[in-house]
Amino acid sequence: MINVTRSMMPEFEKYVDKIKKLWETRWLTNNGDYLLELEKKLSERFNTNCVLVSNGTLALIIALELFDFPKGSEIIVTPFTFAATVEAIIWQGYKPVFADIDPETFNILPEEIEKKITDRTVAIMPVHVFGNPCAVEEVEKIAKSNNLKVIYDAAHCFDVFHKGQSVYKYGDVSVASFHATKVFHTIEGGAIFSEDPHLIEKARRLRNFGFNEQIEIVHPGINAKMNEFQAAMGLLNLEIVDEEIEKRKKNYEMYKELLEGTGVVFQKLNPGLTKYNYIYMPVLFKDTITRNRVYEELKANGYNPRKYFYPSLNKVFSNEGCPNSENVSSRILHLPLYGELETKHIETICQIIKDVIRRG
Ligand SMILES: *Cc1c(COP(=O)(O)O)cnc(C)c1O
Repeated sequence: MINVTRSMMPEFEKYVDKIKKLWETRWLTNNGDYLLELEKKLSERFNTNCVLVSNGTLALIIALELFDFPKGSEIIVTPFTFAATVEAIIWQGYKPVFADIDPETFNILPEEIEKKITDRTVAIMPVHVFGNPCAVEEVEKIAKSNNLKVIYDAAHCFDVFHKGQSVYKYGDVSVASFHATKVFHTIEGGAIFSEDPHLIEKARRLRNFGFNEQIEIVHPGINAKMNEFQAAMGLLNLEIVDEEIEKRKKNYEMYKELLEGTGVVFQKLNPGLTKYNYIYMPVLFKDTITRNRVYEELKANGYNPRKYFYPSLNKVFSNEGCPNSENVSSRILHLPLYGELETKHIETICQIIKDVIRRG
């Protein structure tokens, strides 16, 4: 079975070598050397402050906790995202309010955000969908003039640069996921990035039960610490991630070339994008029937594509209508994409798609 993705991994011996030290030091978690080294490397790479945590969902929860919004506050969010974005809002006791997306970029629409602002709105939580930066300038202008915080779900954005800088630098905070299915991973993992050192200090305390350096409890925190085995995986993956992205780029471009003229539609990327990470290979079919036929036909041939994001989350968590998001959700499919994916599989997948479209 060829899955939609395949986790990048360092050589086995290198990992064993790296973790050997842990048997001597017995320092397995709590601000270990590997964690500190990985935080430093990521801060340098993206030129912003970084707090690593145990997964992306806890990073979202901590990001929301940073601001002490009153319970019941409204947060404007995109319906076209992974469940975790909206679930974090709900777990924090806030109300998700959905603003529809642009059907070409798949990102939240600034004019839809504006329509959803009320006197209970406290923040906007956009997603850079599939590593495609959303309309950050417009979003931040709206936030400023309405006194709202901006928390970006940048789960897909390792190495995504917008106008020459990492997208992690945008917003009050940006949240990354380093889950095994993302381009860069620490098995499970996540991060909070911010330009504001006070927010970063608070995030550090929140991930460790709210303790400050004197071990006094200064806020009710949680346990979201990344352990040394995760950080070791991250450090080694950091050495090979550039090569992984290069290989993905080749595969991505091959798909685009082979599918040209078939009527499938690709995601429209932000013109401000100065570096992209080729995290996924999303394609839109003309209708749900075609998408589902392609899905079944690929499955029958040993390929495992994914309907993602599906369903549109306004259908799960509210009774608001978001026609663009629902429409994209009903026609989208992610084709397998990863560095080691062999050319022959891309050719077969594209042939199957062409056959299904031709049969109509
Ligand atoms: C993966 C993902 C998350 C959650 O990250 P985990 O590390 O799996 O908890 C959140 N938002 C989006 C958009 C994601 O794709």
